[in-house]
Amino acid sequence: MDAAAQRKQLIEQLQGTEEWDLVIIGGGITGAGILLRAAQRGLKALLVEQQDFAWGTSSRSSKMVHGGLRYLVNGDFALTRESVRERELLIKQLPGLVEPMSYLYAHYRWRWIERLGLHLILKLYDLFAGRVTHSGLTADQTRTLMPGIRDTDLVAGTRFEDAVTDDARLVLRTLDEACRLGAVAINYVQVTQLLHRDGKVCGVEMTDRLEDRTLVVDARCTVNACGTWVDRLWGESGGKENGKQHRIRPLRGSHIVIPGDRLPIGTALALPHPEDGRNVFIFPWEQTTVIGTTDLDHDQPMEQEPVITRAELDYLLAALRHQFPDLALEETEILSTWSGVRPVISEKPGLSPSDEKREHEIWSEPGLVSVGGGKLTTFRVIADQVLERIAAQGLLPALKSDSVAMFKREPTPPLPTGVDSGSWCRLLGRYGARLREWWSPDCDPGRVGNTPTLWCELGWAARAQSVVHLDDLLLRRTRIGVQLPRGGEAWLPRIKQLCQPALGWSDEQWSAEEARYLEIIDRYYSLPEVKGG
Ligand SMILES: Cc1cc2nc3c(=O)[nH]c(=O)nc-3n(C[C@H](O)[C@H](O)[C@H](O)COP(=O)(O)OP(=O)(O)OC[C@H]3O[C@@H](n4cnc5c(N)ncnc54)[C@H](O)[C@@H]3O)c2cc1C
Repeated sequence: MDAAAQRKQLIEQLQGTEEWDLVIIGGGITGAGILLRAAQRGLKALLVEQQDFAWGTSSRSSKMVHGGLRYLVNGDFALTRESVRERELLIKQLPGLVEPMSYLYAHYRWRWIERLGLHLILKLYDLFAGRVTHSGLTADQTRTLMPGIRDTDLVAGTRFEDAVTDDARLVLRTLDEACRLGAVAINYVQVTQLLHRDGKVCGVEMTDRLEDRTLVVDARCTVNACGTWVDRLWGESGGKENGKQHRIRPLRGSHIVIPGDRLPIGTALALPHPEDGRNVFIFPWEQTTVIGTTDLDHDQPMEQEPVITRAELDYLLAALRHQFPDLALEETEILSTWSGVRPVISEKPGLSPSDEKREHEIWSEPGLVSVGGGKLTTFRVIADQVLERIAAQGLLPALKSDSVAMFKREPTPPLPTGVDSGSWCRLLGRYGARLREWWSPDCDPGRVGNTPTLWCELGWAARAQSVVHLDDLLLRRTRIGVQLPRGGEAWLPRIKQLCQPALGWSDEQWSAEEARYLEIIDRYYSLPEVKGG
């Protein structure tokens, strides 16, 4: 059965179900987490996503599973403690998908207050984690760890640990675990309105964007997990609860990606930006080096993908050039860019973007629970709190305990010939128990370009992972769209050969998809000049 036939079957299942316990709107990490926790508690749950899964912020983050030092600096102790604990859980439960990453902070002469402050903060950080991850380095050790780092006045370094992931794959793994337990998740279905009966939300009206038809489903409870779009489906309360008006403040953050061999680092570098002192990161990710991020009000239309501006690009390059003065990176060497929009719940008008808190908030009215803000790292906590709120409203039967681990650690299957142990662990993290279903000795273990993605992953994704457009396959099922020059254009003929039959696309359809894909790459994942910005 090709991807289109599988989707048709899901839509039929959706229409054939009399009443869902839970309908979740939004297929980012928040919605995916809620779907999995609901399925683990035996609820009949449906998730719909207006675009592709993880198309929103959850494929555009900095990919750090972290406590967040800046939250501690801002006094968000609870958020940091919670995040550090979640980081530890995810590292244990999802090896190969959530991996520890070492971080370095370099110290320069006359900045001893900063050094002392960091030391105290990291003590607290380690206390939350229940283990010591930070240590002091001499200037020589710092230079060895980070070759090419600005040397003038370098006096010492501090190393600590957080973790890194592939955010879109984290969403997909979470959705897949939920679907294995009987939940249903469908992409390219947009909720257009909430339906009301007897003073409560009783379901939703939706548009199937591929067939352009209207669908209606009944639900005992609906969850609005629309991220930055949460205020488009406020419900009757208009986003108000107990006198508090929730306000979304969309804040954009952008990144640039350069080839890993251009700045080969095995450790992430955290640095205060030379212009405004904001923390910026230069970090290794899947054979590339990423520089990010910015933090500013997002004034671009919400219907289109967010894009980096020239000012943001200059800001990030300034940080890179300041910290690696001899790198002499040309803009033409940049592989890609990406931007994401934080769904921040604004505390009060007039705050600078970086002073806004990043905590999530949950509010509700009869039949509807909404959630906004938060972090990728804390998605399990958010999901459990949303379900508690639903249970407290008496909308669903008392829920079973939430002490079940979100992800069961899979025993590692024997290492196949031709695959190195790192790739095997990576595959297990991304696909979990599903890996046993699709891995066979015929799988091609070769890598796509110099990315860690294996050719056989592309084939599997095209066959079985709800791919509707080529950008779903190359930007979210795999990440080669941001890891290879111009979205991997040079590899498209081979990708076509491998994936076209599984997708069931004619030559004409493939050409149209290729044109659409390259336009998306040029507009939203390239330098501002390419996009005409
Ligand atoms: C630049 C940047 C860097 C970040 N870095 C980190 C980090 O390193 N670590 C970390 O922990 N967090 C990080 N975050 C925060 C984290 O990425 C977000 O908190 C998280 O991804 C939000 O997930 P979400 O599911 O709530 O929203 P989204 O991922 O945006 O998902 C909401 C989904 O709802 C869908 N939707 C909207 N309206 C409808 C509708 N009517 N019908 C159906 N679907 C609809 C959207 O298409 C979207 O896919 C970062 C954020 C940004 C912007």
